Amino acid sequence: MRHAPRDYSLTPLNIYWEMTQACALACRHCRAAAMPHAHPGQLTHEESIALLRQIPQFGDPMPTLILTGGDPLERPDLLELVDEARRLGISVSITPAATEALTRDVLERLRDHGVSGLGLSLDGSTAARHDAIRGVLGTFGRTLDAIGWAQELGLPLQVNTLVTAETAPDIPAVYELLEPRGLARWSLFFLISVGRGTVLEPLPPEDGEELMRWVHRTSRRAPFVVATTEAPSYRRVAVEVLREEGVSPEEIRRSPIMRSFGVRDGHGVVFVSHLGEICPAGFLPLPVGDVRTDSLVDVYRTASLFRSLHDPRQFGGRCHHCQYQQMCGGSRARAYAAFGDPLAEDPFCTYVPPAYAKLVEAAG
Ligand code: SF4
Repeated sequence: MRHAPRDYSLTPLNIYWEMTQACALACRHCRAAAMPHAHPGQLTHEESIALLRQIPQFGDPMPTLILTGGDPLERPDLLELVDEARRLGISVSITPAATEALTRDVLERLRDHGVSGLGLSLDGSTAARHDAIRGVLGTFGRTLDAIGWAQELGLPLQVNTLVTAETAPDIPAVYELLEPRGLARWSLFFLISVGRGTVLEPLPPEDGEELMRWVHRTSRRAPFVVATTEAPSYRRVAVEVLREEGVSPEEIRRSPIMRSFGVRDGHGVVFVSHLGEICPAGFLPLPVGDVRTDSLVDVYRTASLFRSLHDPRQFGGRCHHCQYQQMCGGSRARAYAAFGDPLAEDPFCTYVPPAYAKLVEAAG
Protein backbone atom coordinates (compact mmCIF):
# COMPACT_ATOMS: atom_id res chain seq x y z
CA MET A 1 0.00 0.00 0.00
CA ARG A 2 1.42 3.43 -0.94
CA HIS A 3 1.61 6.36 1.42
CA ALA A 4 2.80 9.14 -0.89
CA PRO A 5 1.73 12.56 0.36
CA ARG A 6 -1.59 13.49 -1.16
CA ASP A 7 -4.64 15.59 -0.49
CA TYR A 8 -7.31 13.10 0.53
CA SER A 9 -10.06 15.61 -0.22
CA LEU A 10 -9.06 15.27 -3.89
CA THR A 11 -7.86 11.68 -4.22
CA PRO A 12 -8.46 8.62 -2.06
CA LEU A 13 -5.68 6.30 -1.02
CA ASN A 14 -7.90 3.25 -1.63
CA ILE A 15 -10.98 2.54 -3.74
CA TYR A 16 -12.84 -0.51 -2.48
CA TRP A 17 -14.96 -2.08 -5.19
CA GLU A 18 -17.47 -4.70 -4.11
CA MET A 19 -17.40 -6.61 -7.41
CA THR A 20 -20.23 -8.93 -6.43
CA GLN A 21 -22.37 -9.90 -3.47
CA ALA A 22 -22.02 -13.57 -4.41
CA CYS A 23 -20.09 -15.65 -1.86
CA ALA A 24 -20.22 -19.26 -0.73
CA LEU A 25 -19.56 -18.34 2.92
CA ALA A 26 -22.00 -16.94 5.49
CA CYS A 27 -19.79 -15.02 7.88
CA ARG A 28 -21.50 -13.85 11.05
CA HIS A 29 -20.26 -10.28 10.65
CA CYS A 30 -20.58 -9.89 6.86
CA ARG A 31 -21.00 -6.22 5.93
CA ALA A 32 -22.24 -7.17 2.48
CA ALA A 33 -24.86 -9.68 3.72
CA ALA A 34 -23.36 -11.86 0.98
CA MET A 35 -25.60 -14.23 -0.96
CA PRO A 36 -24.92 -17.50 -2.82
CA HIS A 37 -25.63 -15.82 -6.19
CA ALA A 38 -24.87 -12.48 -7.79
CA HIS A 39 -27.53 -9.75 -7.58
CA PRO A 40 -29.21 -9.23 -10.98
CA GLY A 41 -28.43 -5.50 -10.74
CA GLN A 42 -24.68 -6.05 -10.31
CA LEU A 43 -22.46 -3.97 -12.61
CA THR A 44 -22.12 -5.76 -15.95
CA HIS A 45 -18.75 -6.42 -17.56
CA GLU A 46 -19.07 -3.30 -19.72
CA GLU A 47 -20.16 -1.16 -16.77
CA SER A 48 -17.25 -2.56 -14.77
CA ILE A 49 -14.79 -1.61 -17.50
CA ALA A 50 -16.33 1.88 -17.58
CA LEU A 51 -15.80 2.14 -13.80
CA LEU A 52 -12.15 1.19 -14.14
CA ARG A 53 -11.68 3.82 -16.86
CA GLN A 54 -12.87 6.52 -14.45
CA ILE A 55 -10.10 5.83 -11.92
CA PRO A 56 -7.17 7.46 -13.79
CA GLN A 57 -9.18 10.71 -13.76
CA PHE A 58 -8.14 11.09 -10.12
CA GLY A 59 -4.68 11.87 -11.51
CA ASP A 60 -1.31 11.04 -10.09
CA PRO A 61 -0.74 9.42 -7.65
CA MET A 62 -3.64 7.12 -8.52
CA PRO A 63 -5.56 5.35 -5.76
CA THR A 64 -5.05 1.63 -5.19
CA LEU A 65 -8.02 -0.49 -6.25
CA ILE A 66 -9.06 -3.16 -3.77
CA LEU A 67 -11.32 -5.82 -5.25
CA THR A 68 -13.69 -7.11 -2.61
CA GLY A 69 -17.12 -8.70 -2.28
CA GLY A 70 -18.85 -11.03 -1.55
CA ASP A 71 -16.13 -13.07 -3.15
CA PRO A 72 -14.35 -11.47 -6.14
CA LEU A 73 -13.48 -15.00 -7.33
CA GLU A 74 -17.20 -15.39 -8.13
CA ARG A 75 -16.77 -12.90 -11.00
CA PRO A 76 -16.12 -14.97 -14.16
CA ASP A 77 -14.51 -11.90 -15.79
CA LEU A 78 -12.18 -11.22 -12.84
CA LEU A 79 -8.90 -11.67 -14.73
CA GLU A 80 -10.11 -9.55 -17.68
CA LEU A 81 -10.98 -6.77 -15.26
CA VAL A 82 -7.59 -7.08 -13.53
CA ASP A 83 -5.92 -6.90 -16.96
CA GLU A 84 -7.83 -3.73 -17.84
CA ALA A 85 -7.01 -2.12 -14.50
CA ARG A 86 -3.32 -2.93 -14.93
CA ARG A 87 -3.41 -1.62 -18.52
CA LEU A 88 -4.69 1.66 -17.08
CA GLY A 89 -1.80 1.72 -14.62
CA ILE A 90 -3.95 1.00 -11.55
CA SER A 91 -2.41 -0.93 -8.66
CA VAL A 92 -4.75 -3.81 -7.74
CA SER A 93 -5.22 -5.79 -4.52
CA ILE A 94 -7.82 -8.49 -3.89
CA THR A 95 -9.63 -9.91 -0.84
CA PRO A 96 -11.00 -13.33 -1.84
CA ALA A 97 -13.10 -15.53 0.44
CA ALA A 98 -11.48 -18.71 1.79
CA THR A 99 -13.55 -21.18 -0.22
CA GLU A 100 -12.55 -24.22 -2.28
CA ALA A 101 -12.17 -21.84 -5.24
CA LEU A 102 -9.15 -20.22 -3.54
CA THR A 103 -6.28 -22.41 -4.75
CA ARG A 104 -2.56 -21.93 -5.21
CA ASP A 105 -3.14 -21.95 -8.95
CA VAL A 106 -5.66 -19.09 -8.69
CA LEU A 107 -3.26 -17.03 -6.57
CA GLU A 108 -0.47 -17.67 -9.05
CA ARG A 109 -2.67 -16.51 -11.94
CA LEU A 110 -3.70 -13.38 -10.03
CA ARG A 111 -0.05 -12.59 -9.35
CA ASP A 112 0.88 -13.23 -12.98
CA HIS A 113 -1.89 -10.88 -14.13
CA GLY A 114 -0.39 -8.13 -11.98
CA VAL A 115 -2.32 -8.26 -8.69
CA SER A 116 0.10 -6.81 -6.16
CA GLY A 117 -1.65 -7.44 -2.87
CA LEU A 118 -3.76 -10.15 -1.24
CA GLY A 119 -6.04 -9.66 1.75
CA LEU A 120 -7.25 -12.61 3.84
CA SER A 121 -9.31 -12.80 7.01
CA LEU A 122 -8.21 -14.76 10.05
CA ASP A 123 -10.50 -14.24 13.01
CA GLY A 124 -9.26 -16.85 15.47
CA SER A 125 -6.13 -18.71 16.51
CA THR A 126 -7.80 -22.11 16.20
CA ALA A 127 -10.14 -23.77 13.73
CA ALA A 128 -12.94 -23.81 16.31
CA ARG A 129 -12.68 -20.07 16.98
CA HIS A 130 -12.20 -18.94 13.38
CA ASP A 131 -14.79 -21.23 11.80
CA ALA A 132 -17.37 -20.24 14.44
CA ILE A 133 -17.06 -16.60 13.27
CA ARG A 134 -16.93 -17.48 9.59
CA GLY A 135 -19.93 -19.82 9.78
CA VAL A 136 -18.39 -22.52 7.56
CA LEU A 137 -16.20 -25.42 8.73
CA GLY A 138 -12.80 -25.66 7.05
CA THR A 139 -12.18 -21.96 6.41
CA PHE A 140 -9.41 -21.81 9.04
CA GLY A 141 -7.35 -24.48 7.28
CA ARG A 142 -7.99 -22.97 3.86
CA THR A 143 -6.92 -19.53 5.09
CA LEU A 144 -3.67 -20.90 6.52
CA ASP A 145 -3.04 -22.73 3.22
CA ALA A 146 -3.60 -19.49 1.28
CA ILE A 147 -1.26 -17.59 3.63
CA GLY A 148 1.43 -20.18 2.90
CA TRP A 149 0.85 -20.01 -0.87
CA ALA A 150 1.04 -16.21 -0.85
CA GLN A 151 4.37 -16.47 0.97
CA GLU A 152 5.68 -19.02 -1.58
CA LEU A 153 4.48 -16.91 -4.52
CA GLY A 154 5.90 -13.66 -3.17
CA LEU A 155 2.44 -12.08 -3.14
CA PRO A 156 2.36 -9.29 -0.52
CA LEU A 157 -0.21 -10.31 2.06
CA GLN A 158 -2.43 -8.42 4.49
CA VAL A 159 -4.30 -10.44 7.10
CA ASN A 160 -7.38 -8.86 8.65
CA THR A 161 -8.63 -9.95 12.07
CA LEU A 162 -12.01 -9.04 13.51
CA VAL A 163 -12.07 -7.50 16.99
CA THR A 164 -15.23 -8.06 19.05
CA ALA A 165 -15.86 -8.74 22.73
CA GLU A 166 -15.69 -12.44 21.79
CA THR A 167 -12.46 -12.39 19.75
CA ALA A 168 -10.42 -9.82 21.74
CA PRO A 169 -8.97 -12.27 24.31
CA ASP A 170 -7.69 -14.41 21.43
CA ILE A 171 -5.91 -11.57 19.57
CA PRO A 172 -2.45 -12.19 21.12
CA ALA A 173 -2.69 -15.87 20.11
CA VAL A 174 -3.61 -14.84 16.54
CA TYR A 175 -0.50 -12.67 16.50
CA GLU A 176 1.67 -15.61 17.65
CA LEU A 177 0.20 -17.71 14.84
CA LEU A 178 0.90 -15.03 12.22
CA GLU A 179 4.32 -13.86 13.38
CA PRO A 180 6.40 -16.38 11.40
CA ARG A 181 4.24 -16.34 8.24
CA GLY A 182 5.79 -13.57 6.14
CA LEU A 183 2.93 -11.06 6.15
CA ALA A 184 3.34 -7.50 4.90
CA ARG A 185 0.62 -6.17 7.19
CA TRP A 186 -1.80 -7.27 9.91
CA SER A 187 -4.86 -5.12 10.43
CA LEU A 188 -7.22 -5.39 13.37
CA PHE A 189 -10.73 -4.56 12.26
CA PHE A 190 -12.80 -3.17 15.14
CA LEU A 191 -16.38 -4.34 14.56
CA ILE A 192 -18.96 -1.94 13.17
CA SER A 193 -22.46 -3.19 13.86
CA VAL A 194 -23.93 -3.14 10.34
CA GLY A 195 -25.11 -5.98 8.08
CA ARG A 196 -24.79 -9.31 9.87
CA GLY A 197 -22.32 -7.68 12.28
CA THR A 198 -25.24 -6.65 14.50
CA VAL A 199 -25.32 -10.22 15.90
CA LEU A 200 -21.83 -9.79 17.38
CA GLU A 201 -20.95 -7.79 20.46
CA PRO A 202 -18.50 -4.90 20.02
CA LEU A 203 -15.62 -4.51 22.43
CA PRO A 204 -16.39 -1.96 25.20
CA PRO A 205 -14.43 1.32 24.65
CA GLU A 206 -12.26 0.92 27.78
CA ASP A 207 -11.20 -2.56 26.66
CA GLY A 208 -10.60 -1.15 23.17
CA GLU A 209 -8.22 1.43 24.62
CA GLU A 210 -6.30 -1.31 26.43
CA LEU A 211 -6.13 -3.42 23.26
CA MET A 212 -4.87 -0.44 21.23
CA ARG A 213 -2.01 0.01 23.71
CA TRP A 214 -1.21 -3.68 23.21
CA VAL A 215 -1.37 -3.18 19.42
CA HIS A 216 1.12 -0.33 19.68
CA ARG A 217 3.54 -2.35 21.83
CA THR A 218 3.22 -5.29 19.45
CA SER A 219 3.76 -3.12 16.37
CA ARG A 220 7.28 -2.36 17.62
CA ARG A 221 8.40 -5.99 17.65
CA ALA A 222 6.30 -7.39 14.81
CA PRO A 223 8.10 -8.36 11.59
CA PHE A 224 5.22 -6.74 9.66
CA VAL A 225 3.15 -3.55 9.84
CA VAL A 226 0.42 -3.74 12.50
CA ALA A 227 -2.53 -1.45 11.86
CA THR A 228 -6.17 -0.96 12.74
CA THR A 229 -9.32 -0.59 10.64
CA GLU A 230 -12.31 1.48 11.83
CA ALA A 231 -10.34 2.54 14.90
CA PRO A 232 -8.66 5.82 13.88
CA SER A 233 -8.40 6.76 17.57
CA TYR A 234 -5.55 4.22 17.64
CA ARG A 235 -3.44 7.07 16.21
CA ARG A 236 -4.30 9.21 19.25
CA VAL A 237 -3.46 6.31 21.61
CA ALA A 238 -0.12 5.73 19.87
CA VAL A 239 0.81 9.42 20.04
CA GLU A 240 -0.14 9.51 23.75
CA VAL A 241 2.08 6.49 24.44
CA LEU A 242 5.01 8.08 22.56
CA ARG A 243 4.57 11.33 24.51
CA GLU A 244 4.47 9.41 27.81
CA GLU A 245 7.79 7.89 26.78
CA GLY A 246 9.30 11.34 26.16
CA VAL A 247 9.57 10.94 22.37
CA SER A 248 10.05 14.34 20.71
CA PRO A 249 7.32 15.86 18.49
CA GLU A 250 9.70 15.59 15.50
CA GLU A 251 10.23 11.85 16.07
CA ILE A 252 6.49 11.37 16.52
CA ARG A 253 5.93 13.07 13.16
CA ARG A 254 8.32 10.56 11.57
CA SER A 255 6.83 7.49 13.33
CA PRO A 256 5.03 4.80 11.29
CA ILE A 257 1.69 5.65 12.90
CA MET A 258 1.66 8.95 10.99
CA ARG A 259 1.54 7.14 7.65
CA SER A 260 -2.21 6.77 7.98
CA PHE A 261 -2.60 10.39 9.16
CA GLY A 262 -6.13 11.58 8.41
CA VAL A 263 -7.39 8.55 6.47
CA ARG A 264 -10.95 7.68 7.51
CA ASP A 265 -14.30 6.75 5.96
CA GLY A 266 -14.93 9.02 2.97
CA HIS A 267 -11.54 10.75 3.30
CA GLY A 268 -8.82 8.64 1.73
CA VAL A 269 -11.36 5.85 1.29
CA VAL A 270 -14.26 5.44 -1.13
CA PHE A 271 -16.46 2.40 -1.73
CA VAL A 272 -18.34 1.29 -4.86
CA SER A 273 -21.05 -1.31 -4.21
CA HIS A 274 -21.93 -4.25 -6.47
CA LEU A 275 -24.81 -2.10 -7.76
CA GLY A 276 -22.49 0.78 -8.60
CA GLU A 277 -23.47 2.97 -5.64
CA ILE A 278 -20.75 5.34 -4.42
CA CYS A 279 -20.48 5.35 -0.62
CA PRO A 280 -17.89 6.83 1.76
CA ALA A 281 -16.93 3.33 2.97
CA GLY A 282 -18.20 -0.23 2.99
CA PHE A 283 -19.26 0.20 6.59
CA LEU A 284 -20.89 3.56 5.89
CA PRO A 285 -23.67 2.50 3.51
CA LEU A 286 -24.90 5.94 2.48
CA PRO A 287 -25.00 6.06 -1.35
CA VAL A 288 -24.39 9.55 -2.72
CA GLY A 289 -23.89 8.69 -6.37
CA ASP A 290 -23.91 5.91 -8.95
CA VAL A 291 -20.95 5.08 -11.18
CA ARG A 292 -23.36 4.27 -14.03
CA THR A 293 -24.47 7.89 -14.22
CA ASP A 294 -22.08 9.95 -12.07
CA SER A 295 -18.38 10.67 -12.12
CA LEU A 296 -16.66 8.86 -9.25
CA VAL A 297 -14.09 11.67 -9.11
CA ASP A 298 -16.72 14.44 -8.94
CA VAL A 299 -18.78 12.65 -6.29
CA TYR A 300 -15.70 12.00 -4.14
CA ARG A 301 -14.58 15.62 -4.39
CA THR A 302 -17.83 17.56 -4.40
CA ALA A 303 -20.83 15.60 -3.07
CA SER A 304 -22.13 17.26 0.06
CA LEU A 305 -21.55 14.23 2.32
CA PHE A 306 -17.99 13.74 1.07
CA ARG A 307 -17.22 17.45 1.56
CA SER A 308 -18.38 17.15 5.15
CA LEU A 309 -16.32 14.00 5.67
CA HIS A 310 -13.25 15.76 4.25
CA ASP A 311 -13.59 18.48 6.91
CA PRO A 312 -13.30 17.27 10.54
CA ARG A 313 -14.35 20.74 11.80
CA GLN A 314 -17.86 19.66 10.80
CA PHE A 315 -17.82 16.64 13.09
CA GLY A 316 -19.86 16.71 16.27
CA GLY A 317 -19.39 16.16 19.98
CA ARG A 318 -15.90 15.39 21.26
CA CYS A 319 -14.51 14.93 17.72
CA HIS A 320 -15.46 18.55 16.95
CA HIS A 321 -13.39 19.90 19.84
CA CYS A 322 -10.53 17.43 19.62
CA GLN A 323 -6.94 18.47 18.91
CA TYR A 324 -6.44 15.08 17.19
CA GLN A 325 -9.25 15.62 14.68
CA GLN A 326 -6.98 16.07 11.63
CA MET A 327 -5.01 12.86 12.21
CA CYS A 328 -7.96 10.87 13.58
CA GLY A 329 -11.45 12.31 13.12
CA GLY A 330 -13.08 9.18 14.54
CA SER A 331 -14.80 6.33 12.75
CA ARG A 332 -17.53 7.93 10.68
CA ALA A 333 -19.04 4.47 10.09
CA ARG A 334 -19.35 3.82 13.82
CA ALA A 335 -20.85 7.27 14.40
CA TYR A 336 -23.46 6.48 11.76
CA ALA A 337 -24.14 2.99 13.15
CA ALA A 338 -24.52 4.37 16.68
CA PHE A 339 -26.34 7.68 16.09
CA GLY A 340 -27.61 7.59 12.49
CA ASP A 341 -25.32 10.60 11.85
CA PRO A 342 -21.99 10.08 10.07
CA LEU A 343 -20.73 13.41 11.47
CA ALA A 344 -21.42 12.57 15.12
CA GLU A 345 -18.62 11.72 17.56
CA ASP A 346 -17.08 8.25 17.54
CA PRO A 347 -18.57 6.48 20.59
CA PHE A 348 -15.70 3.96 20.70
CA CYS A 349 -13.16 6.61 21.72
CA THR A 350 -12.69 7.26 25.45
CA TYR A 351 -10.84 10.54 25.01
CA VAL A 352 -12.33 13.75 26.40
CA PRO A 353 -10.62 16.71 24.70
CA PRO A 354 -9.80 19.55 27.15
CA ALA A 355 -11.81 22.04 25.03
CA TYR A 356 -14.85 19.77 25.25
CA ALA A 357 -14.42 19.22 29.00
CA LYS A 358 -14.33 23.02 29.52
CA LEU A 359 -17.57 23.43 27.58
CA VAL A 360 -19.28 20.71 29.58
CA GLU A 361 -18.06 22.29 32.80
CA ALA A 362 -19.24 25.75 31.71
CA ALA A 363 -22.64 24.32 30.80
CA GLY A 364 -22.96 23.28 34.38
S1 SF4 B 1 -12.43 12.50 20.22
FE1 SF4 B 1 -12.77 11.94 18.06
S2 SF4 B 1 -11.10 12.97 16.92
FE2 SF4 B 1 -10.51 12.92 19.09
S3 SF4 B 1 -9.26 11.09 19.36
FE3 SF4 B 1 -11.39 10.54 19.88
S4 SF4 B 1 -12.28 9.75 17.96
FE4 SF4 B 1 -10.39 10.89 17.43
